[in-house]
Amino acid sequence: MLTQELMDKYQLVVGLEVHAQLATSSKLFAGDANNFGAQANTQVSVITLGHPGTLPKLNLRALEFAVRMGLACESQISRKSSFDRKNYFYPDLPKGYQITQDKEPICVGGNVTLTLEDGTEREIQLNRIHLEEDAGKLIHSPEREESWVDYNRAGTALIELVTEPCLRSSEEAVVFLAEIRKMVMYLGICDGNMEEGSLRCDANVSVRFHGSETLGKKVEIKNMNSFRNLGRAIDFEYERQVGLLEVGQDIVSETRTFDADKGVTASMRTKEELNDYRYFPEPDLPPVILTEEWIEEV
Ligand code: ADP
Ligand code: MG
Repeated sequence: MLTQELMDKYQLVVGLEVHAQLATSSKLFAGDANNFGAQANTQVSVITLGHPGTLPKLNLRALEFAVRMGLACESQISRKSSFDRKNYFYPDLPKGYQITQDKEPICVGGNVTLTLEDGTEREIQLNRIHLEEDAGKLIHSPEREESWVDYNRAGTALIELVTEPCLRSSEEAVVFLAEIRKMVMYLGICDGNMEEGSLRCDANVSVRFHGSETLGKKVEIKNMNSFRNLGRAIDFEYERQVGLLEVGQDIVSETRTFDADKGVTASMRTKEELNDYRYFPEPDLPPVILTEEWIEEV
């Protein structure tokens, strides 16, 4: 636990990236079924597997779900949005790129109001909500030095909500995630099942002197799938960063993972080792143009 003195000296700054798996019956750009727990590699068409010459086609229902969430968050709904390729190699990504939205997301801005335990209200600003496809899943053998890949999840539809760096405590982050979970379930766009990974969250964490206008260097903690671990990871990271600054050390911008057994975060990769994703416009999908009537209907 940080002392009151150190908490008064250093402000915690958190921005969240929340992924929600959309409850569509098929994938974002293919007709394959979207069922959690089906036998491995049974929901994999040539589109999902990225065979040459195959073409993606946008799932209208997924688009509608993203717009529903945007309307619920008072985002601006983009009359024109578009898709981009994020290029990287990983065995769970058969195409070698993920289709996402970089420059023109479907929803821009927005806000979510929280009520904290002591009754105070806080308005959290969103940067954006965009549509993207999920990757497959690697399963590591418990007995042998072997990993298996299941492509059933590859290409399933996600929305990613990105907040501004405006959260100020682990409690706010946890209450925000709980509010998002309530909203997606109420809207019927995601089952909210965190154990199955339908809702997961990355936390960007930095600290700075209270009153400072500039942001400190941030650390990104990947893929937390419980409220409790999200809160623990942020608290641990606050203490770790304050501890480093207090002894005159720099914060390294890096990606970290939370070890729930030990209750600590550990380095995964530093920014220098990070991929250059070479985003570019997805040539196989036209821009999405929405009419006022359609948005009104949603
Ligand atoms: P990156 O380019 O590293 O992905 P972004 O600017 O896209 O960073 O922001 C990603 C997330 O990190 C957002 O939720 C944002 O609010 C948050 N974020 C950005 N800078 C900071 C910071 N200094 N401290 C905490 N969170 C931050
Ligand atoms: Mg980002």
